[in-house]
Amino acid sequence: MRTGLLLLAALAAALQGCASPPTRVDRPAALAEADYRLDLQAGASAPVEVVLELRFPHGTPAEVRLSFARRYAFVSPDAPLLAAAPVFTDARGRPLAAEALDPFTWRLRQPPQRFTVRYAVRLDHRDLPGVAGRDEYEQPYLRAGHGLLSTAVLLLLPELGPLACRLRLELPPGWAPTPVWPEVDGWLVPPTPLAARNDLLPVGRWESDSFEAAGFVGAVHYAPGQRLRIGASAAVLGEVARQLIDWMGAPPAPRFGFLSPQVDGRGAGGSPKSTTMSLFLGDDALPRARGFLAHLGAHEFFHLWGRKDVPAPDEMRWFEEGVTDWMAHRAALEVGGIGLEDLHRELGRARRAVAAAAGSGLSLAEAGGPAFFEGGDAYQLCYSGGLLVGTWMDRELTRAGAGGLIAFLREWKRAGGPGTEAPLPGLERLLDSFAARAGGSAAAELRALLTAPFGADQADACTSAGPLPPQ
Ligand SMILES: [Zn+2]
Repeated sequence: MRTGLLLLAALAAALQGCASPPTRVDRPAALAEADYRLDLQAGASAPVEVVLELRFPHGTPAEVRLSFARRYAFVSPDAPLLAAAPVFTDARGRPLAAEALDPFTWRLRQPPQRFTVRYAVRLDHRDLPGVAGRDEYEQPYLRAGHGLLSTAVLLLLPELGPLACRLRLELPPGWAPTPVWPEVDGWLVPPTPLAARNDLLPVGRWESDSFEAAGFVGAVHYAPGQRLRIGASAAVLGEVARQLIDWMGAPPAPRFGFLSPQVDGRGAGGSPKSTTMSLFLGDDALPRARGFLAHLGAHEFFHLWGRKDVPAPDEMRWFEEGVTDWMAHRAALEVGGIGLEDLHRELGRARRAVAAAAGSGLSLAEAGGPAFFEGGDAYQLCYSGGLLVGTWMDRELTRAGAGGLIAFLREWKRAGGPGTEAPLPGLERLLDSFAARAGGSAAAELRALLTAPFGADQADACTSAGPLPPQ
């Protein structure tokens, strides 16, 4: 359905930064309270001044580590973009000696029961190498009248729990408060623990809309000008969300935000965070905005089922991204966002993409390693190869009378299913589950498709019967 749609960000990329494990402390249950005051009043090009007050109301730990998320987007910097490094002081303003353990992490030994950390963060992430034309839509920014905040880059979080965390935003005059997180006594409260580690918050003059599906509330937020650009097509987000909830049996969360930031660029892209996702359509995509949004929205929305706090094994990247893309195309087709001819065209594009990437000699299982994040062949193989293998799996599961790939995915990602375990299962577990439904010889074929170098022959084997299985 598209060419040049290279920007589907990997959930794993976005979420690796979320998985910072709680550090054990040597006292019982040190509940920490973290209040963040973010001062944005200096306007568009100024750094965000942050004051964190951290308290240990039930006793202090022997040490506390605080860190910024390392990986929150497809392109993440090697160090936080700080205009002022963290300065630690006690309740009387006296300096505390915290040591920097690495560019993202500070340690304070014998912390007092209450102390303050001050720092400032530049929000020029869109200027990072590799971002332009590729990853602007999920990077924070501040412009005249509005902005997009990222908790991953703004919050220096204590690595311990349970943590009671809240934010107060000091905004320029006339800016509306963010409508995404619950507000209690003027403080914004992260709806999930992961939201403090990786979420996007619109600030300023965004316009909002919403839809409901089976108890699920989807909130749609447009940066200035975006409602005019794509608002007429955005109803399809609700249609694909309802379709996926129907197929999966229950919503993945009670509520989620769909954000359309201002992005200068071509193509389209999307990336889900903890309670919001960022979606972008370039001007070149607008003539087919409904189809693009149906596919993009379904892709990112489907990521919300299953574990979001643990990264998938590299060998499952084709499944997490490519099979998700297969599901997105099926949902978009079902609601009429795309037509069957679009799906045909997309499979043809995927075939050409894997043929072009076949020179790498990578199998789909291998393509999900570190090379995936560099783009190029490995990236193409995971998305396009995974889409093709999804088509094949659907056909084989349907042939076996096992209800097709949708039923398989519903079982895999149901509460308590393999897709909700930590660590997430790898290839062998998937092959076992597939064998149980589609039979041993189909599972052996699937193993070969995933572990031998993937190219045009494999693509042809996947799609020889067309985009949909025989009914
Ligand atoms: Zn994805």
